[in-house]
Amino acid sequence: MNDEKLLDRSIPTRTANIRSPRSDAIDIPVARPRLPTTERIEPYLRQIDANQWYTNQGPLCETLQERLGRFWEMDYDNVALVNSATTGLTLALRAHAPRPGSRCLMPSWTFTASAAAVTDAGLVPHFVDVDPDTWMPDPDNVECLARSPDIGAILIVVPFGSPIDLTVWDAVSQRTGRPVVIDAAAAFDTLRSGGPMRIGRSTVVISLHATKVFGMGEGGAVVSRDPALAEHIRALARFGFAGSRSAQHAGINGKISEYTAAVGLAGLDVWAETRSRWDAVTRLYHNLLPASVRLPPAFGRNWVSSTLAVICPEKSNDVAGILATHRIGTVSWWGTGCHTQPAYASCPREQLPMTQQYGCRAIGLPFSQDMTAEQVMYVCTTLRNILPAESRAPRFAASTNFA
Ligand SMILES: *Cc1c(COP(=O)(O)O)cnc(C)c1O
Repeated sequence: MNDEKLLDRSIPTRTANIRSPRSDAIDIPVARPRLPTTERIEPYLRQIDANQWYTNQGPLCETLQERLGRFWEMDYDNVALVNSATTGLTLALRAHAPRPGSRCLMPSWTFTASAAAVTDAGLVPHFVDVDPDTWMPDPDNVECLARSPDIGAILIVVPFGSPIDLTVWDAVSQRTGRPVVIDAAAAFDTLRSGGPMRIGRSTVVISLHATKVFGMGEGGAVVSRDPALAEHIRALARFGFAGSRSAQHAGINGKISEYTAAVGLAGLDVWAETRSRWDAVTRLYHNLLPASVRLPPAFGRNWVSSTLAVICPEKSNDVAGILATHRIGTVSWWGTGCHTQPAYASCPREQLPMTQQYGCRAIGLPFSQDMTAEQVMYVCTTLRNILPAESRAPRFAASTNFA
């Protein structure tokens, strides 16, 4: 299996919103996914050969569900594995059965998949702004809007893996009677047992895509403290079958195959090393970026993710363009908000001043497990030199203190 080639295709330097003109001119790509090697996957492939069981909740899928459950301090039956986080979000929303055609409050400043899932679930995205400090919508504002009878659900995004207090959203859900689904696509590690964010009552969806911190190619997990809800989502992902071959719900095929599960199991086997590589690059950036560059909330505090989106100081001009001339790849991970994309431009929305500001000032810097200290230093020094003079001071004067 030539996974290098396959994975290369998922490197976002090829996507349309990459800001550099020619990706072959980039020496430091914005992402360089690294999944378990063939050698690590092979024992699991041999199990598949022996089992002659290739998909439909096979033994490898069962084991992965069990091990991921433990990883997130949950049980086997709290987890539903699906073929992507986008599928997971759609099915999670559908499982909560909001009135079809009703609106779903959600941030505009998120990856387009969040809006795609809401739409696919038969809801209309209703965009709200984000708070400049937490990078998520303001709970009081959302609660107030959610009291309108037009609102059927709420989708909240964990911003780039930064921990948010999920009990706040559980309370909003309880008081308004509206289901809250958490797009925790980037929060694989943030949610781990002993990590900084705990799963509450709201349904949580995690991505296992190749570009995320723990990738298995394509894949996602829906986690719920309610085993019945998790089973409902598993049923929706297998054509709506629940105990018989007679569909109980209008379902889809959202399953993962045993081959995907093999990659996932091999990934868990090497997770400790993978995580320590992510952690090393996190620490380097944390210490070397200028203080005027705003990091994701609580960046570096007991969680790792696979991206680094920073907010540049207000007066910085064309940071991405200038970095590209220094052969440094960047990407605007979330663009200027879903409401600026043709597919969602006509959706209802509140005023979005922070989304507009952060949409223009946010930049995804190169971030990968394999980055060397020299590369991180080069990115940080280059960035520092193109910022306005008053924005160049280091985060730490002398020490490499890491909070
Ligand atoms: C990556 C991502 C998704 C989509 O995940 P897939 O597994 O690729 O479907 C959705 N929302 C956010 C915030 C993401 O970062």
